[in-house]
Amino acid sequence: NRTVRLQKFLAQAGVASRRSAEALIQQGVVSVDGVVITEMGCKIDPGQQQVRCRGEVIHPHREAFVYILLNKPKGYVTTVSDPQGRPIVTSLLHDIGERVFPVGRLDIDTEGALLLTNDGALAHRILHPSHQTTKTYEALVQGRPRQEQIDRLQRGILLDGRRTAPAQITLRKRHEHATRLQVVIHEGRKRQVRKMFAAIGHPVLDLKRTAYGKLFLGQLKSGHFRHLSEKDLKKIF
Ligand code: URA
Repeated sequence: NRTVRLQKFLAQAGVASRRSAEALIQQGVVSVDGVVITEMGCKIDPGQQQVRCRGEVIHPHREAFVYILLNKPKGYVTTVSDPQGRPIVTSLLHDIGERVFPVGRLDIDTEGALLLTNDGALAHRILHPSHQTTKTYEALVQGRPRQEQIDRLQRGILLDGRRTAPAQITLRKRHEHATRLQVVIHEGRKRQVRKMFAAIGHPVLDLKRTAYGKLFLGQLKSGHFRHLSEKDLKKIF
């Protein structure tokens, strides 16, 4: 149901304050689809009906696009609601002014860079495989994978019946019983990094996304977010 009270529509469109909008309606200078409306409480559908004030077409308020980079902590889900009542990432945001949604997903036990926006077109571009937005992860995996195994992951392996696209994997540090690696992929299949390493017998112990394209988390603390500039957005592609 997209209907809204006429005075509210006028106020949201920036014509006047709510109270002044009521006065305009009473004065008989507001029309809906060519019919002058003078009584209060009339509801309109801004997508379907044309409102004029003193003859001028009033366009609905367009929400501003908002782009946010959040350093998602572990334990938060990236869905906009959770039937199990677990904490959701949008609860970490405040003073945004617009409703935003996460672009893609991160597992509840994965931390790091998460984009949120109300710009559906941008979200689509980022998620579409043809755009090949790279995502960079730091993974701590169990044991010490051999170079030959890493090479296999880099070339692509069969996961759920489909070959993964080539990945770039860089060794960061070998510990006694674990290995830290940087993994760059441009696909976003569900639990992809975890499944890739599980497939070679070296399950992921810890996973953090550090960048979308060349947009890195940098100094952003866990649970904190920042608004992205035009320049930041260009780094994503
Ligand atoms: N790959 C995973 O396995 N998990 C994520 O959250 C992101 C990529």
